[in-house]
Amino acid sequence: MSDEFDYYEVLGVDRNASVDDIKRAYRKRAMQYHPDRNPGNAEAEKRFKQCAEAYEVLGDAEKKSRYDQYGRAGLRGSPMHDFSHADAGDIFDMFRDVFGMGDLFGFGEGQHSRGPARGQSLRAMVQIRLREVATGATRTLEVKRLELCSTCGGSGAKAGTKPVQCKMCGGQGKVQRGGGFFRMITECPQCGGRGTVIADPCPDCRGHGRRPQRKTIEVSIPPGIHSGQQIRLSGQGDAGEPGGPRGDLFVVIDVADDPMFERDGNNLFCRVPIGFAQAALGGDVEVPTLTGPYTLTLSAGTQSGEVIRLSGKGLPDLHGHRSGDILVQVIVEVPRKLTSRQKELLREYAESEGKSVLPERKGFLERLAKYFANGGKQ
Ligand SMILES: [Zn+2]
Ligand SMILES: [Zn+2]
Repeated sequence: MSDEFDYYEVLGVDRNASVDDIKRAYRKRAMQYHPDRNPGNAEAEKRFKQCAEAYEVLGDAEKKSRYDQYGRAGLRGSPMHDFSHADAGDIFDMFRDVFGMGDLFGFGEGQHSRGPARGQSLRAMVQIRLREVATGATRTLEVKRLELCSTCGGSGAKAGTKPVQCKMCGGQGKVQRGGGFFRMITECPQCGGRGTVIADPCPDCRGHGRRPQRKTIEVSIPPGIHSGQQIRLSGQGDAGEPGGPRGDLFVVIDVADDPMFERDGNNLFCRVPIGFAQAALGGDVEVPTLTGPYTLTLSAGTQSGEVIRLSGKGLPDLHGHRSGDILVQVIVEVPRKLTSRQKELLREYAESEGKSVLPERKGFLERLAKYFANGGKQ
């Protein structure tokens, strides 16, 4: 394990955070410090790995409870990943559930068949706006991926020539090492297990059989997606060896912060300042939604901090369950500057208020009187 740091601090959650909160916090930070977004930034990479380590512990009920009781010492003997040597892709793969893989997009790596090697899977990152989470979106990506060389058809041999049998292994692809008792069969180092070598390489791919090429790929992003989730485009990664399957392309979604709304699952939270006269008298106030302004009718006597729920006006659910809500928190703003006319009106109001004390104020005044009567005790 790397140097000491507090797992809760690294994820920015408190000790009572729920499993979902921890998962969400990790997802957010993993995106923030992802090496693709912070190229060459060693500090970000360090944080990225610390977050993974923290999530491995706090995301697991048993490890979390041991950490809560005994700190790191409690984790001795628990199986842990070594994140300091893992790359970002590996880390994403370790926590598939956090990044939403497997549940919707039929994530499933595998097929370790013995035939020609499969192409590498690639990863691309796409940023969308919150508004696009509501509607879904399409993006055109330009991806650099390996394609079979059209000159040699992927063989790597110059036109008119063919790969020749490997001399070291006699075409077996495997060699025996050591002698007597300890014989080991390993992949032939000369031909890499293919059994053939290229004597006269194709000039276009220099014998590799594949060449990097730019491809334009369209990805459609479903409504309701969350930051950190991936969309798998099957067979859109690198070409495999001739006859082998292509790799996949994973598109990691990053939802940009919105200037108006904070997202919590499928709910959207927004603060709307109103004047105190408006709060007291009630009336119509315009509030934002993702599809445009919405007129909210406040009842008379709306309190500062009150939250009004606009049912079903939040984000759609990725799995087609009910949509989220918009939660509007009304903040009553007290004016800092008044005209003399306004002051006059307010003084008049204050005088009338003196005669009829508001209920909250009344309760407070009673508590205050009792407090001083008892000399500050209870
Ligand atoms: Zn070629
Ligand atoms: Zn060989």
